[in-house]
Amino acid sequence: MTEDYFVFFASCMPVYGRNGITICDTQYGEIHWFPHDLQPLIESIDKRIPIIEMKKKFSDSDDGLEQFLDHFSNKKLGFYTKNPNVFPKLSMDWYHPSKVTNAIIDFDTCSTHKIEHIIDALDHLLCPHIQIRYFQQVNKESIIDQLISVKGSSVNSIDIVLTHPGNLSIDDLKTIYASYSQINSFTLFNAEDDRIVDDVPFLLSYMKREITNEKSCGLITENHFSSNIKLFTESIDFNNCLNRKVSIDRTGAIKNCPSMETSYGTVPTTNLLDVIDLVLNNPVTKIKKTEIQECDSCEYRMVCTDCRAYVDNPADIYSKPLKCGYNPVTTEWADWSTNTLKEKAIKFYQLDNSN
Ligand code: SF4
Ligand code: SF4
Repeated sequence: MTEDYFVFFASCMPVYGRNGITICDTQYGEIHWFPHDLQPLIESIDKRIPIIEMKKKFSDSDDGLEQFLDHFSNKKLGFYTKNPNVFPKLSMDWYHPSKVTNAIIDFDTCSTHKIEHIIDALDHLLCPHIQIRYFQQVNKESIIDQLISVKGSSVNSIDIVLTHPGNLSIDDLKTIYASYSQINSFTLFNAEDDRIVDDVPFLLSYMKREITNEKSCGLITENHFSSNIKLFTESIDFNNCLNRKVSIDRTGAIKNCPSMETSYGTVPTTNLLDVIDLVLNNPVTKIKKTEIQECDSCEYRMVCTDCRAYVDNPADIYSKPLKCGYNPVTTEWADWSTNTLKEKAIKFYQLDNSN
């Protein structure tokens, strides 16, 4: 060890939980978990304490310190240097030029709202990302027709969720994609098995889960974590699901999220642009992970998308997401749906096995 300092890469940021620590690599999207015992060492590195000082502080074994630093280095979390000051930390400011950054638009067999009116409004708001969820069987031609309004709009990323994919083949999905290269992903539920298809130019996931409506949203698992600088910084000051989000539910109601009760009117009777400030200024959009019970002491809080529609205590908007089975005290995962402490809330939201 000839260098004076060990420094974490700017994109690798420690998050301290009650009994675990994550180092979130926001460049490569990886999450490295460490036990709570390592907090003094990780904090010292993060504060850029010279190695010689750390040796005094953790005097039990120089070899032990070297092994840990080498481990962090091998994992590409940091590096040795003589000049830490030439490696500034990343700004934690979150900025996005769009008034709305993401929207959910739901449809089922009874829906009468037209996507073109909604896309027109979203274009005014410079919205770059939409998720369209079809809770009914829909064919290739309908999807292609429906998406015409997206062409030339601000929308440059589309996720499509199909709960009843019927006979839609991979070739059909490729045909849809050929018309709309903005499509980022297709997720098909009620499939025969869970699988991800690799050899297509979009993300294609088949899921066995049987879902029929918006109540299936809000699930939190390790697979849902996302380590990126946008989510990390947005999570500091805002609710990382609802910030700058607008939704149109299956009935055409304008909401923060399709699973929430509050409606700001129904399209097209209500112009989305007339109510958008009310949607975006709902206080729920400002609830941060550090204000939420249990999440405030969870090491995954900066990579975990929140849910405010389904919470452990429906009377307390600051309670933990209902569909999370992680316990930051034991650092163990369990099935949330069989947790007896959650029974009351599951009943309140009328969730069943498919949700
Ligand atoms: S608040 Fe929950 S239910 Fe609503 S969009 Fe977010 S994760 Fe889904
Ligand atoms: S919902 Fe809260 S407790 Fe569960 S993993 Fe996310 S941050 Fe941790």
